[in-house]
Amino acid sequence: MPEGHVTHRNARLQADLLGLNGPLDVNSPQGRFSDGAALLDGHALESIEAYGKHMFYHWTMGQVLHIHLGLIGKFQLHPGDGPTPTENTRLVMKGQDGTVFLAGPMICNVINPDEEATVIAKLGPDPLRSARGGRKFAERLATKRIPVGAALLDQSVMAGIGNVFRAELLFLTGIHPNTPSSALTDAQTAALWKQSVTELRIAEEIGDIITVNPRHVGARSRKSLNRETGVYVYKRDGLPCRICETEIVLEEVASRKIWHCPRCQPRPA
Ligand SMILES: [Zn+2]
Repeated sequence: MPEGHVTHRNARLQADLLGLNGPLDVNSPQGRFSDGAALLDGHALESIEAYGKHMFYHWTMGQVLHIHLGLIGKFQLHPGDGPTPTENTRLVMKGQDGTVFLAGPMICNVINPDEEATVIAKLGPDPLRSARGGRKFAERLATKRIPVGAALLDQSVMAGIGNVFRAELLFLTGIHPNTPSSALTDAQTAALWKQSVTELRIAEEIGDIITVNPRHVGARSRKSLNRETGVYVYKRDGLPCRICETEIVLEEVASRKIWHCPRCQPRPA
């Protein structure tokens, strides 16, 4: 599933590609968004905002396009007109310097600002929107009795975290995924937030989740790493930990797989 770095990166790149305040051509080759596209066609964008895994496109006439990619949704950004869209393309937006295609989103709706506010009110702090959400994160986390590995996927605790980040953030902070959220120390909670701000920023810039310190794998920069070399634990069960060489272990927390190092992330007493 696309995590928060994908929405923020897309908000930034799409605003550059489509241009703000100029009219866009909007249509739905698949037809499932024809009515929404007709409302937006010929209008201009004021801004594109990402909030966790949600995107809100603000149009100058006051409407909001709400997009959530879900599990399989995908954007394609093309210079100029781009190729002929496939029949699965839900939305096409053509602007100043290029065209955005969207296929397979979980949500693609035109809503009003009140409805947008309702969606945002349910979300926890987003580390890519402000580094100062740490206190709110700690408050929300403290109310959860579930393991921290499950709480990190709860978008009302922190917005934008998915399965890759939750595993990597817990490794980087040395926390076992099954630690009850309410049992974390203040220092652990603060470290989790701080690490989230750092890692999501890097992923937004690179366009992929690369958490490994290049020195730990003999590389010169994070950008030269890929999903295989660039993570500490995600999908690395049976492989040696990059720090201590203990075998990485796979478990299920909140019915989704999570990986951890039994030595770097000791099980809570
Ligand atoms: Zn280890």
